[in-house]
Amino acid sequence: MDVLTRTRGCGGILCRYSEIATKGRNRSEFERLLVRALKRHLALLAPLKVVRERGRIFLFPEGRETFPEDVLDILRNAVPRVFGLASLSPGTWVAPELEAIEQAVLETFPAAYESWVQRRPDPGTPIRYAMRARRNNRAFPLKSTELEVYFAQLLLPRYPRLKVDLGDPELRVDVEVREDGAFISYERVEGPGGLPPGSGGRLVALLSGGIDSPVACYQAMRRGCTLHYVTFHSAPFTPPAAISKVARLVHRLNPLQYRPGRLYAVNLLEAQQAVRDACNPRLRTVLYRRLMVRICSVVARTENAPALLTGENLGQVASQTLENLTVIDRAAAVPILRPLLTFDKNETTEIARRIGTYEISKEQVPDSCTVFAPERPVTAATLERVVEQEARLDVPDLLRACIEATVLVDPETFEEKAPSPRLQQMLAQYLGAGAAV
Ligand code: ATP
Ligand code: MG
Repeated sequence: MDVLTRTRGCGGILCRYSEIATKGRNRSEFERLLVRALKRHLALLAPLKVVRERGRIFLFPEGRETFPEDVLDILRNAVPRVFGLASLSPGTWVAPELEAIEQAVLETFPAAYESWVQRRPDPGTPIRYAMRARRNNRAFPLKSTELEVYFAQLLLPRYPRLKVDLGDPELRVDVEVREDGAFISYERVEGPGGLPPGSGGRLVALLSGGIDSPVACYQAMRRGCTLHYVTFHSAPFTPPAAISKVARLVHRLNPLQYRPGRLYAVNLLEAQQAVRDACNPRLRTVLYRRLMVRICSVVARTENAPALLTGENLGQVASQTLENLTVIDRAAAVPILRPLLTFDKNETTEIARRIGTYEISKEQVPDSCTVFAPERPVTAATLERVVEQEARLDVPDLLRACIEATVLVDPETFEEKAPSPRLQQMLAQYLGAGAAV
């Protein structure tokens, strides 16, 4: 790192990550992916110089002394979308010497103090203060606690309203003394945690226009997974808006991963009609779902994804009892991940609001699942019963019909185009392997 003598203004950003710090040999790969995500989401601050050093990532403005004045707004806006980031702090770099640190703190502290005075106008109310110091520079003469005490002795007499409160400070000064510089910051912008985009595996998500499945996608992306999406519709029984609504959800979710995922739209109607005509109405939902996961298993093969993802939740609706979920699992050629399995609905809704999918999900558009939905669905299907019902159908033929009519939807323009012939090839292989039965 250069000798950093930048002071005042925001001369640097310190990025903290929590969980990825525990990764052993993979750590540098995780860091690389986090840096890639930071550069993507902080494009407004480009060009950036990145320094990775001992569990920290520092960002500096390239070719300028400081970041623009609205850096904090830019960070607050972007940081919640950077998976893998615990928090970051914009701050000031100075030489790793006590004198330089003291000078910088004395210069920057008044503004920080003033902002708390404005928030606590009553002069009788104390302002809770703490300094948190970290030292990885052994040559530096003071230990971190000594540095904290040093500054308390310096600042408390000058600012009588300050009251040291290590447990719950309002005005918090972070100082990191490193080999080639010391970093001083007053702000901490919380990140979403999780793992950086691209560090997890690939998944094929069953995405409906409901509240749950977009949240399930978010949760998986937060663990570093990359998603492609499949949505089922029943045109002309469902309107075109059933697809465009899902496309808008994809448009909202895609920026959270490094590469945009593809959206497949599958018309399930023919299969639904066959189920309606031949099978016990009380088992319809489970039968539909088994057809869905079979189709998605084929998409998963085309996309090299080892598993599927759904927004299913234990006991939320009749089709999602433990018995029914187990029977649905048996139709899939790959495992089904269900990150919301144990969530309460209000927990899911809260996340949906926070990530901006709720606004779209709450729009009332008929869903494929409600077409020919039974009045009293079975809550405890058994595999025997379901297999016996499916024997009345030509399952491979229905799968072929659905997959032949599948299109890829552009999440921005809603334009539809035929998927690659690979999907048909995969279907032939899948049916050849007998996986559909
Ligand atoms: P959601 O709000 O995600 O639609 P839900 O509580 O309404 O969930 P269901 O509609 O029974 O529950 O669906 C359970 C899961 O099945 C969904 O989370 C989704 O993963 C998948 N699914 C349901 N309908 C569709 C569809 N039309 N297209 C794609 N996947 C679907
Ligand atoms: Mg739904």
